[in-house]
Amino acid sequence: MSSITIAPLPSTAGLPIQKETTAGNYFVSNYPPFAFWKAEDVPVFEKSLEQAPTENVPLGLYVHIPFCRKRCHFCYFRVYTDKNADDIRGYIEAVLSELRDYVSRPALVDRKPKFIYFGGGTPSYLSPDQIRLLTDGMKALLPWDDATEITFEGEPGTLTDHKLRAIRETGVTRLSLGIEHFDDHILEINGRAHRSKEVLRAYAFAREIGFPQINIDLIAGMVEETEEKWRETVAKAVELQPDSVTIYQMEVPYNTGIYRQMKAEGHLIAPVADWETKRRWVNQAFGEFEKRGYTVTSTTTVVKNPELVHFEYRKGLFSGADILSVGVASFGHLNGVHYQNQHDFQPYVEAVQSGRLPLHRAYVVPPDEKLLREFILQLKLGSVFIAPFVEKFGRDPRVEFAIPLESLKRLGFLIETEDKITLNRDGLLQVDRLLQEFFKPEHRTGRYA
Ligand code: SF4
Repeated sequence: MSSITIAPLPSTAGLPIQKETTAGNYFVSNYPPFAFWKAEDVPVFEKSLEQAPTENVPLGLYVHIPFCRKRCHFCYFRVYTDKNADDIRGYIEAVLSELRDYVSRPALVDRKPKFIYFGGGTPSYLSPDQIRLLTDGMKALLPWDDATEITFEGEPGTLTDHKLRAIRETGVTRLSLGIEHFDDHILEINGRAHRSKEVLRAYAFAREIGFPQINIDLIAGMVEETEEKWRETVAKAVELQPDSVTIYQMEVPYNTGIYRQMKAEGHLIAPVADWETKRRWVNQAFGEFEKRGYTVTSTTTVVKNPELVHFEYRKGLFSGADILSVGVASFGHLNGVHYQNQHDFQPYVEAVQSGRLPLHRAYVVPPDEKLLREFILQLKLGSVFIAPFVEKFGRDPRVEFAIPLESLKRLGFLIETEDKITLNRDGLLQVDRLLQEFFKPEHRTGRYA
């Protein structure tokens, strides 16, 4: 491992720099962090559903499928590995009832989703019949004919030829395969359910069936990762020629099996590579794909043809689209309010069965935070264009965020040109820690990888 250390940021919050991987979340997926969403804001969210939507705000739909064959040791999602066919059927019926409740509200009436995302968990854990039951029910409530991108996440070991055909027949345009690694020992030691043979078979089937886009997910820095194994994994990923690749840097949140083991053994440092090494591995992977003509389009993604691959869900999430989100623990955003559902299976199903929306917490975005939220999230794409912000908010982000921007420029992570603010590769690969510089002081979490 390299001994170079990252220069500390002159942070206004005085947050510590961490080189080693310790427990906690580093990945910024929304703003403000979920810890600041509150049950007290739920009535405001419910009231907002009685108002008409804001003109020209697109609608997306997210469906959470919380089932998996096995719990990966690094997993921090709400997943269930013990549900039988009756439980799953009950869950699908609950999701459809929840959707039915929403579509009659003024905020949703007569709207159609522009993009749809099936996430989890493992959506491909569902059988072909269950997939049809769910998607036919959804289409009857909220037609899909305006949707330009429909994503379905799949775990390779669950994807038979028959199931892949059923998924494609529903209209899915983008299959996202959770491969994570190609080395069987690494997959096993990290608790993944699939092996590399299943990856290759599922990928070949999916290509044969003709999904318009196939994304593959990889993780840099899993337990027992080595230079050699990472290089081999990248080489195999390149060989598949996917339409896009998403590469995460391994993190070890508190609710993971890895953290529980660390705690039991009294370790503060996680048994995975340090942050510098993970960034170097992601950069190496980006470089290999760039040599083949791919384009880096965010801190985690490379894309074969940016003209064809748009990531509509991410674009919507990052630019204030309405996202109607259904299913246990899912989070969405409607009429300026963020919300998250009940995060346990039984309370979720019972709430829906008793005719209530299964809401857990919400966050009313104050007017001054809208620009901040979109700026923070869009910086994860590597560049923020100034004109759309000025047009949408009447404010210039270069003026709003002059102090943190100056800090990042001084440290050589960022450049400003007439029309945009751009992170260089070094900045892009550690954007999640740099973003804390833009957070309101009360929203800083102290996690600073
Ligand atoms: S497949 Fe994904 S959601 Fe399921 S346990 Fe593994 S990491 Fe978690």
